[in-house]
Amino acid sequence: RTNEWRAGAKHRVFCQLPNGDWALCTVITTSGDESVLKVPEGKVLRLKTESLQPANPEILDGVDDLMQLSYLSEPSVLYNLQYRYSQDMIYTKAGPVLVAVNPFKKVALYGNEYIKAYKNKTMDSPHVYAIADSALREMKRDEVNQSIIISGESGAGKTETAKIAMQYLASLGGGSGIEYEILQTNPILEAFGNAKTLRNDNSSRFGKLIEIHFSTTGRICGAMVQTFLLEKSRVVQCAVGERSYHIFYQLCAGAPTTLREKLNLKKVDEYKYLKQSCCYSIAGVDDAEMFRAVTEAMNIVHISQEDQDNVFAMVSAVLWLGDVSFTIIDNENHVEITVEEAAETVSRLLGCSIEDLNLALSKRHMKVNNENIVQKLTLTQATDTRDALAKALYASLFEWLVEQINKSLSVGKRRTGRSISILDIYGFESFDKNSFEQFCINYANERLQQHFNRHLFKLEQEEYVEDGIDWAKVEFEDNQDCLNLFEKKPLGLLSLLDEESTFPNATDLTFANKLKQHLDTNSCFRGERGKAFTVRHYAGEVAYDTSGFLEKNRDLLHMDSIQFLAKCKLSIPQTFASKMLAQSDNLESVPYRPSVADSQKLSVAMKFKGQLFQLMQRLESTTPHFIRCIKPNNLQLPAIYGQELVLQQLKCCGVLEVVRISRSGYPTRMTHQKFARRYGFLLLEDVASQDPLSVSVAILHQFNILPEMYQVGYTKLFFRTGQIGNLENTRNRTL
Ligand code: ADP
Ligand code: MG
Repeated sequence: RTNEWRAGAKHRVFCQLPNGDWALCTVITTSGDESVLKVPEGKVLRLKTESLQPANPEILDGVDDLMQLSYLSEPSVLYNLQYRYSQDMIYTKAGPVLVAVNPFKKVALYGNEYIKAYKNKTMDSPHVYAIADSALREMKRDEVNQSIIISGESGAGKTETAKIAMQYLASLGGGSGIEYEILQTNPILEAFGNAKTLRNDNSSRFGKLIEIHFSTTGRICGAMVQTFLLEKSRVVQCAVGERSYHIFYQLCAGAPTTLREKLNLKKVDEYKYLKQSCCYSIAGVDDAEMFRAVTEAMNIVHISQEDQDNVFAMVSAVLWLGDVSFTIIDNENHVEITVEEAAETVSRLLGCSIEDLNLALSKRHMKVNNENIVQKLTLTQATDTRDALAKALYASLFEWLVEQINKSLSVGKRRTGRSISILDIYGFESFDKNSFEQFCINYANERLQQHFNRHLFKLEQEEYVEDGIDWAKVEFEDNQDCLNLFEKKPLGLLSLLDEESTFPNATDLTFANKLKQHLDTNSCFRGERGKAFTVRHYAGEVAYDTSGFLEKNRDLLHMDSIQFLAKCKLSIPQTFASKMLAQSDNLESVPYRPSVADSQKLSVAMKFKGQLFQLMQRLESTTPHFIRCIKPNNLQLPAIYGQELVLQQLKCCGVLEVVRISRSGYPTRMTHQKFARRYGFLLLEDVASQDPLSVSVAILHQFNILPEMYQVGYTKLFFRTGQIGNLENTRNRTL
């Protein structure tokens, strides 16, 4: 490297402690290839000089924008964020990106006073409000739709951040109270789509885009919500220590007596679906109170009392469905439902006969050799069918709620102006065991990452061009190869998954083998032993286990179940079923439509890909603003900053990539004036009478700053990493 950094006495450097953390320390002496350092707690260490990393001069401690750092190394970025975090400055810019470190406590940064301050520009430190404000400003100025793209891993603060942004936009008012309605969609969607997980007590189990519409006069006039990939499996299955969706617990805790009796509600620990995770409450959360908040919110978004009754009937029906048991009727393990309280309650709530329910859960109509036959189900098959029905019911309920919200918030023809979209979507995930869900989520993140890269790259270039400097194109890593691995037809991950999903005899193992057979030469793919494969994502390698891939991708709801729902008197499942039936077009009108595949032309992966493309298309036409949320510890506790955890997220969400892109360019910028003022006194010749540009050039020459290390723009000097650090050190020694 041409970057001439040498550890010298009094220099601030980072050294790596035995636990792997970086600590800021001061060099006492350097001799040979070793340095003696003073570390924070006053201790003295002797270390190899080459293991040290230069630290930024003190004036740069806790800068607002990481780009102002002269050294953009990992330890300096980590140090700067930590420095700010320890003073409750949870927001920091990384060039155009806002980094938000979750405080896990109330911080005094929000509310009307702050909103006003950002509106009037009397405050300009990095903030979600500032991002929302520039989105508004740019929307009006450029007449272009805007988007605020929030990402980060579970528990990092995406949903809170989205709400803070919405709060800012809503504070502008709309006149008709519509802004209040928009805010009230949050408690509803969170009740039905969020759950306590091991990572986050209020984890969103779906992705969300909310598009906020503005009238020509710049006021809020409506909104539209789109959701992605609700985790249905949680309804029937949930890990120990986690909970199912909040609404189940809220309803059981908060329903008034008449409703409780009408829905035949039990205590939460009496339902099989809720019992399996042994977790019923969340510290500091009153479910009964939340129930009232949710019904209040439903009132505000104009969900009628009758509809609300239907909604809660479905919630109760799903819970009771889990308690429906089966009786074995022959020695081949075939079953019928047991007629008892559970089955009776389900059929009463859904508005069907017990016989219908029994048919749907214990029989299956099939076509074999063009002949309709009825197959009796075994206990396992019947249980799976029951769980699939519960999942479908819940998903249809969620879908219905989103539709109602959209109806209520829709502005129809009055919508003439512009929009700001806020995207709150799961970030890149890499666990010990990664399944179909991670596969879809990480695929979405590759797409979003590409969007991010392209945008940032363009911005960088624009700034150089504006200031008239010559910028040979900076190379940066594109993730197109990985996207191709997913999307290529016919030999890409998604196509192969879909193809395999249509074969009745295919298994997760045959799928894994097929991938290995066709993709092993792809540089982003690696086949692993057994049912596993590895993808090289932009954020790191992820090993996927194909167990359950085919089943989750098919997401079968048998025709018998769909027809059962269509027969129910309750309108929500009925509407849902007719939609499903309409999808299975041009089927002959025989009473039983036997083919399962025909009823669901679209696999989950394909549906998701379609949604994702639509999303990307929508985002492409907007000016994006990026917020990256960081979770500083896994304990959901304040004041704990785990360097390694933060670093890994900075890598995953592309912040280090931003830093890398700009490092390969000229990250440090200073106006001619400021540069001349700051370092002019170091000049040996008298320059008092000269203009800032000439003074600046004289400084550059006197300090032998190599020509490839800087560029002189119309208004600013642009420096490669580390150059200002050298000048600062000299300045400090001289002062
Ligand atoms: P994500 O949506 O990324 O999974 P959340 O937005 O649900 O994460 O945040 C998880 C938790 O972190 C919240 O329930 C809240 O306790 C805390 N939190 C997040 N952001 C903030 C914030 N700005 N101020 C205070 N607490 C926050
Ligand atoms: Mg969330």
